[in-house]
Amino acid sequence: MKVTLLAGGVGGAKMAEGLAALPDVDLSIIGNVADDDAFHGLWVSPDIDTLTYSLADVIDRTQGWGVADEGHRALQTLSKLGAETWMTLGDRDFGLHIHRTMRRAKGDRPSDIARDVANAFGVKPQILLPTDDVVQTRVRTDDGWLSFQEYFVRERCAPEVRELAVHGLSDARPTPEALEAIAGADLIVVAPSNPLVSIAPILDVPGIRAAVSDAAALKVAVSPFIGGKVVKGPADKMMKALGERPDALGVARRYASIIDALMIDRVDAPLGAEIRAEGLDILSSATLMKSRDDKARLASEIVDYARAQQ
Ligand code: GDP
Ligand code: CA
Repeated sequence: MKVTLLAGGVGGAKMAEGLAALPDVDLSIIGNVADDDAFHGLWVSPDIDTLTYSLADVIDRTQGWGVADEGHRALQTLSKLGAETWMTLGDRDFGLHIHRTMRRAKGDRPSDIARDVANAFGVKPQILLPTDDVVQTRVRTDDGWLSFQEYFVRERCAPEVRELAVHGLSDARPTPEALEAIAGADLIVVAPSNPLVSIAPILDVPGIRAAVSDAAALKVAVSPFIGGKVVKGPADKMMKALGERPDALGVARRYASIIDALMIDRVDAPLGAEIRAEGLDILSSATLMKSRDDKARLASEIVDYARAQQ
């Protein structure tokens, strides 16, 4: 079965690992590039790297991002030289950012770079970019606009979010690889990623939402909320701040126009009637993915559901 996953960073990578573990699944992942930014002259693509490192099994499993067995000597030198070092970039990780930056400077397509990096790390699923253009999330707080990483890492998501914008989006073009993966899929899965800053910047690349909507595939999203709480990150605060319900029903309403079914956690069964009223089928399970087995089990439940619909 051809499965295309729309994914952010940590939540996205867990779902990607689950799907990648299944036999008979040909997996393509469309990642989020709106968290990308330049640090120390290097182009950093955190969500794409989280996918690559997770699928290559070199990820730091305790924090869910970055490379395991990492050192920070390069950062120490930068700090000594007066650079701001709130963005934690490890020594091994720096190597990838140097490579990516060199190739971008040569004019290589970001999609080709991401593909080659994934191949070099031995990643089997295809990691695709929604666009090769620069698109960047900006967060408006009471102190003005911040870059996504200033809000997320430097300010630790503390400021109240007043508005979100993605620079560059209106002029961005979708990649042919992403469009093909969407059109050719048997199943499209929206990972339990942040709907506002991981999934929206993918869907909002001109052409992507329409492609998903037009695709013949069955479309299933997984809620990143369990009992009205996030596993990690600011999705609840952001949804609330922007007037949306910070729970599985809010996710259902956000995706209702493009998905067929929503996978919710069992504890969210009381929201079932209202989610069905949005026109969605409901799958329910234990959706907290800790172990390898949790990820593969959740993925197989989604794939089995899709097979049953065929
Ligand atoms: P980021 O880019 O690293 O912030 O990660 P994502 O956007 O991909 O994922 C963040 C979201 O993943 C958060 O809203 C979490 O609630 C959700 N999440 C993380 N782990 C799990 C999990 O095991 N199960 C579910 N259902 N959601 C999860
Ligand atoms: Ca992210």
